[in-house]
Amino acid sequence: SNSVSDDYSTQRTNDDATQCKYFAVQKGYWKDEFIGRFVSGANEETSRFPEISLGYWCRTKIVEQHVKQFINKFSGKVQIISLGSGFDTLFWRLSAENLKFLKFVEVDFASVTSRKIRNIMKPGTPEMTSFFSEKPSIIHHTDLHSGNYHLIGADLRQLGELNTKLDAADLDNSIPTICIAECVLVYMSGSHSSALLEALCSRFKKLSFLNYEQFRSSDEFTKVMEANLGNRGIQLHGLSMCESADKQKERFNMAGFSSVEVHDMNEVFNRILDPADATRVKKIEMLDELELLWQLLAHYCVVYAENH
Ligand code: SAM
Repeated sequence: SNSVSDDYSTQRTNDDATQCKYFAVQKGYWKDEFIGRFVSGANEETSRFPEISLGYWCRTKIVEQHVKQFINKFSGKVQIISLGSGFDTLFWRLSAENLKFLKFVEVDFASVTSRKIRNIMKPGTPEMTSFFSEKPSIIHHTDLHSGNYHLIGADLRQLGELNTKLDAADLDNSIPTICIAECVLVYMSGSHSSALLEALCSRFKKLSFLNYEQFRSSDEFTKVMEANLGNRGIQLHGLSMCESADKQKERFNMAGFSSVEVHDMNEVFNRILDPADATRVKKIEMLDELELLWQLLAHYCVVYAENH
């Protein structure tokens, strides 16, 4: 049916994100000694425009920066939940830097988590499992639980299933918790993402939500996005993009978040991230014509919301 093929394309956007991140890391945009473990050999050679790598640099850095600030603010007594985590490596990057937190939970479709578990369990250097606080116990092929790290297969639109799976990760609803959605909500209908935000907001008493995604929909941008993914065999139709920063604020407010901050990625690139690092990455592929980059970044935003 239609919805099945849509879910399949949505899951494949993770392969694209993983390859883009791997490519950017290879070029030196940022360091990630783990991402290569999640790349399938055949696609390693794919090259990307510098604008794409700079966009991913910005995205990776702003997520990392927010999460590190959150960890430091509460001296590590926090829970981190990555929604639609795909093959993201944040758990390992933070752990390799010796940052402490109580729980790191990743959620994605079961077909994605089962592939992630296989990659995590493959022997390699360093061992991915050596970063867990306890030896992993695999409940079944889609769910892995191991002390401070949990990977669970669930559809974020099925809130009953999601809540049950979160229970299995042994979360404490009163502890400061940050949810990350990095290019995820845009693949769900507006009503599904609002229901998800509301459910999390009422479950966790001290919740912060970090949302990164495309916004300011326009016909041109949608065409470019769909053509770009189409070139890699991913058929996506009808991303549900917020029209504006105000619309992002509105939906987070409606879901129960009392404070909401929205920045487009131009602001993030030029005013929020470390200027020395921004200067460094612009030189990597000697991009001297920046107009396209600014146009691209204007279509992405980061939302930081709190419910307390
Ligand atoms: N957050 C990761 C990153 O930034 O590298 C992956 C991003 S990828 C573009 C989108 C991810 O969201 C995919 O892994 C997809 O399977 C997941 N996703 C989208 N809708 C979902 C849903 N309803 N339930 C669970 N996962 C979902």
